[in-house]
Amino acid sequence: MAAGSAIQIPSRLPLLLTHEGVLLPGSTMRTSVDSPRNMQLVRSRLLKGTSLRSTIIGVIPNTSDPTSDCDDLPSLHRIGTAALAVQVVGSNWPKPHYTLLVTGLCRFQILQLLKEKPYPVAEVEQLDRLEQFTDQHKSEEELGELSEQFYKYAVQILDAVRLEERFKMTIPLLVRQIEGLKLLQKTRKPKQDDDKRIVAIRPNRRINHMPSTTEDEEEEDHDDVVMLEKKIRASSMSEQALKVCLKEIKRLKKMPQSMPEYALTRNYLELMVELPWNKSTKDRLEIRAARIVLDNDHYAMEKLKKRVLEYLAVRQLKNNLKGPILCFVGPPGVGKTSVGRSIAKTLGREFHRIALGGVCDQSDIRGHRRTYVGSMPGRIINGLKTVGVNNPVFLLDEVDKLGKSLQGDPAAALLEVLDPEQNHSFTDHYLNVAFDLSQVLFIATANTTATIPPALLDRMEIIRVPGYTQEEKIEIAHRHLIPKQLEQHGLTPQQIQIPQVTTLDIITRYTREAGVRSLDRKLGAICRAVAVKVAEGQHKETKPDRAEVGEGEDCKEHVTEDAKPESISDTADLALPPEMPILIDFHALKDILGPPMYDTEVSERLSQPGVAIGLAWTPLGGEIMFVEASRMDGEGQLTLTGQLGDVMKESAHLAISWLRSNAKRYQLTNASGSFDLLDNTDIHLHFPAGAVTKDGPSAGVTIVTCLASLFSGRLVCSDVAMTGEITLRGLVLPVGGIKDKVLAAHRAGLKRVIIPRRNEKDLEEIAANVRQDLTFVTASCLDEVLNAAFDGGFAAKPRVERLNSKL
Ligand code: ADP
Repeated sequence: MAAGSAIQIPSRLPLLLTHEGVLLPGSTMRTSVDSPRNMQLVRSRLLKGTSLRSTIIGVIPNTSDPTSDCDDLPSLHRIGTAALAVQVVGSNWPKPHYTLLVTGLCRFQILQLLKEKPYPVAEVEQLDRLEQFTDQHKSEEELGELSEQFYKYAVQILDAVRLEERFKMTIPLLVRQIEGLKLLQKTRKPKQDDDKRIVAIRPNRRINHMPSTTEDEEEEDHDDVVMLEKKIRASSMSEQALKVCLKEIKRLKKMPQSMPEYALTRNYLELMVELPWNKSTKDRLEIRAARIVLDNDHYAMEKLKKRVLEYLAVRQLKNNLKGPILCFVGPPGVGKTSVGRSIAKTLGREFHRIALGGVCDQSDIRGHRRTYVGSMPGRIINGLKTVGVNNPVFLLDEVDKLGKSLQGDPAAALLEVLDPEQNHSFTDHYLNVAFDLSQVLFIATANTTATIPPALLDRMEIIRVPGYTQEEKIEIAHRHLIPKQLEQHGLTPQQIQIPQVTTLDIITRYTREAGVRSLDRKLGAICRAVAVKVAEGQHKETKPDRAEVGEGEDCKEHVTEDAKPESISDTADLALPPEMPILIDFHALKDILGPPMYDTEVSERLSQPGVAIGLAWTPLGGEIMFVEASRMDGEGQLTLTGQLGDVMKESAHLAISWLRSNAKRYQLTNASGSFDLLDNTDIHLHFPAGAVTKDGPSAGVTIVTCLASLFSGRLVCSDVAMTGEITLRGLVLPVGGIKDKVLAAHRAGLKRVIIPRRNEKDLEEIAANVRQDLTFVTASCLDEVLNAAFDGGFAAKPRVERLNSKL
């Protein structure tokens, strides 16, 4: 076919079967090669060969199913395109493949398939003429004229060295190009994913600035980059930020939209516009109103509320926010977050919670530099964007659970955020310009101060929030939790009634916590169950066509103590809508929540010698802790199990040593009657703990009591709990967390608490009703502890003091 100076393609071509569209002569296509056949072709024909001939391949569209890459060659399309392989790039990710850049040269027709494996090779016939651009062609027909014209234009422009001249020459050409593209745009509605076309339009429009017509200006207004620029100029950002943004806008204008950096820069600029540089809410602090809000939202917590009001009053008088950060420390569910929310409410400020639990990368606080893919601002800047004002209340939740890692120390970043000397120019890595945080009111919460980084602790004023008594919980439930749950479940007090005795049952038999979180969840579960009943009842009321309606009393839902009710969750046979309000009594409680989780546990466990109840403090509040001991024949070994720390292990050794040295005095013997308690005897001490590791010296008195019970064979009183550190000489030293521990003993229904004498003053903090329910025994030596722990005393001369009368 081809003749004269036309280029001839080889008569035998290796064939590349591609699923990625049809390659036309003159066009370029990037195609991914991963089938074994095509990979083999690339390796042996393109990567090994060096001559031009070896880089011409035949590209045939493969119309078979792309997923079925079976060994057999699919039936081939007869016409293909000879192509020049311009570039080969190999990669192993996500699987081995090559990416080929091919340019179509001319079409061919397959005459005969010469071989199929390892890749197909065919004898082909060239269909198009491939012209060589030589002088000779200039004169040939229309094509010759056109190429001559193109050549002339190109050389004209090439000759224009001066900038002005070049503009003059290219602008008319570009205007024509734009008109053409506009026409194209009108005929084809722009599709979002049609990247190529948008890329082509964008740079042209910009160059169009210079010879702009009114029409073009109108179009410019719609250009979102220009809009963005307008927004930036109109925003109240700092001078430094404005400078940076305008520089970025300049870069953005020159960037093709397909560049990944385009989207990054745009996101950045949009965030900068959105940030509340100068937007704030007006503070409306009126201390009396604040007191009312705090009282309305929270029952009890008097000390905390008083301290918060003082804090707010000082802030109001001083009219600035400099000063220590308030940090509420206490077990979960005691209302720390909720008080933070109320503070925001009293001030009329926005509220935002930043959870810090588990944060161990400083970029969580300070953001990532923009060079990272997927970089974003830190939580502080993100929070400001969310609230949209620069003076919100930020609750830094769980500062005690900040971690540390190779990615830097988030506590250090947080220090910068909280430091009034520095935070007016806080620089997030992503923003890379300073943002003024001095108007933000920060409040922190933690379960314990022990794990708050010291430098951070130094900036904070700790306000402790202890757990609640049963009475307080009942009040909180009826004043706050139940109304909230009813509202959330679309119920009214006319539909459900939860008497106080039921709430007490939930508190004592279904939860064991210092706060009210589980209580709230259980109330939620009850409301859900009742909501189903009510909804079903409404459904039945609208369909009263069942024959049994009104047949018998036993169909009724109303749950009472004596009328053995049906299961509240079993509604299949109910013909009548439930009688309102649905009363939640203990039977209903069992139906909804299952059998009680905490019942006669204490007395059951204390029914053998070698068990005593200690009181432990954990970040989750006070807890009662059973200490169990057993002995067996052995070599005098001590085994300790349970979740305990080093200090606790030391206490165990101290306790054994003290008991061994006092065995004779107390007539304690081992199984073979010897006063040497460890002679031929092993002791195993176990602390059946909850999920939280306990450590600290305060278990000393409990271990001694437990071992005294084991070796004497006497039972420890089942209503007594104790706490106190011991010394080798048998003294009892004061310990911390008395209030939480006493509340835990009260929760567990115990009646007597043995505490170190020097902790007596701590009892004043305990609510009067709790003190009334308990008898406190103060002890300064172990003799006194043992005397109080066993019915009838343990030593000859008991020295028990009852404090109730004094307090
Ligand atoms: P924390 O932050 O201490 O873990 P939350 O503030 O989340 O606890 O409190 C859990 C739930 O208990 C919230 O619904 C809260 O309103 C409620 N709550 C806790 N204490 C009280 C209280 N004294 N008065 C009213 N509601 C309370």
